[in-house]
Amino acid sequence: MIPVNRKGEVWVFAEQEDERLSDVTLELCGKARELADRLGTRMAAVLPGWNVRELSYRLIAHGADRVYHVHHTELEHYRTLPYARVVIELAARHVPQILLFGATPLGRDLAPRVASALKAGLTADCTDLDLGDYVDPRTKETHKNLLLQIRPAFGGNIIATIINFDRWPQMATVREGVMRLQDPDAERTGEIIDEEVAFSDSDLAVRIVERHREPRKVNLKAARTIVAGGAGVGSKQSFQLIHDLAGVMGGAVGASRAAVDGGFVPKDHQVGQTGTTVRPALYVACGISGAVQHRAGMEESAKIIAINWDKDAPIFSVAHYGIVGDLRKVIPVMIRAIKERA
Ligand SMILES: Cc1cc2nc3c(=O)[nH]c(=O)nc-3n(C[C@H](O)[C@H](O)[C@H](O)COP(=O)(O)OP(=O)(O)OC[C@H]3O[C@@H](n4cnc5c(N)ncnc54)[C@H](O)[C@@H]3O)c2cc1C
Repeated sequence: MIPVNRKGEVWVFAEQEDERLSDVTLELCGKARELADRLGTRMAAVLPGWNVRELSYRLIAHGADRVYHVHHTELEHYRTLPYARVVIELAARHVPQILLFGATPLGRDLAPRVASALKAGLTADCTDLDLGDYVDPRTKETHKNLLLQIRPAFGGNIIATIINFDRWPQMATVREGVMRLQDPDAERTGEIIDEEVAFSDSDLAVRIVERHREPRKVNLKAARTIVAGGAGVGSKQSFQLIHDLAGVMGGAVGASRAAVDGGFVPKDHQVGQTGTTVRPALYVACGISGAVQHRAGMEESAKIIAINWDKDAPIFSVAHYGIVGDLRKVIPVMIRAIKERA
């Protein structure tokens, strides 16, 4: 357990693979920077790896005042135990007040290990972070400037705010794409602190024998236009309409969970609370009702067009333009019109 340290830094775990930082790390740097400024403290990143020191400059450009860098051959590829050892040791040395991870497969594996070793709380899959005060109803004591860890709960039907006033650091994993990626500032300066961490035999009990990586085939987060289909599309065959519209618009194909569950498209395409969070310039929702879990992943899109034959569908409450009609008639007309203008 580490003590409550109100002057402690705000930390981001810098997730990298093959010498590339994950997008969520950089998104979190922007949020951590804001929190650190409000708390009047430093923002720092923890960067374990092998030959990744250069990445420190990107972290600094994205807001870090300090980078705690650990260089070790055993850290070349991610393994839970040595990576957890690094974060646990550094947290014990420097006593941060906040420690954030991306809610990626790696972050979801690492953060609970660290939280358990530090006997700290951990809120998984946050969709927002803020600061606020909390009055303990038992002692009437006011705890100021706590991390408000905000996430959907009970199937997305309520938004829960979780705090942690006595078991620090305050730890959270944050979903990819929910924090806005801030522009880097190449002029920023910061400190790179080379740290050493010793591993025990048990930290190295798991050996990597072979590595196989399946690259992501769909990159919804990078798409400027997304055409998404839902259960209303009807079948895998009819989903070709969504591919066709996305094709003429130069966009990517998204889907609701119902469309994924129906086998219309693979899970990589799912947008929403348990899929990808997206903010494209244009999101076209076709035959999607607009359940809260879907909206959570797309309502920050700059422009939303919804096509649905039910005029009362909730998707229209977040759409900038709505077309009430049968998508099997509307989409072919749109495709023809776009082709004629091209
Ligand atoms: C914990 C949890 C996590 C979840 N995570 C996600 C998530 O990440 N993403 C997600 O999408 N969902 C998620 N869901 C599921 C979510 O609650 C909804 O069930 C889902 O989004 C519904 O998908 P849909 O809108 O495609 O289907 P439906 O709700 O069945 O809506 C279909 C819509 O199509 C319209 N329609 C039908 N035929 C036509 C036609 N021919 N022309 C025009 N319109 C037509 C209908 O009017 C209707 O509005 C989650 C649920 C839970 C409990």
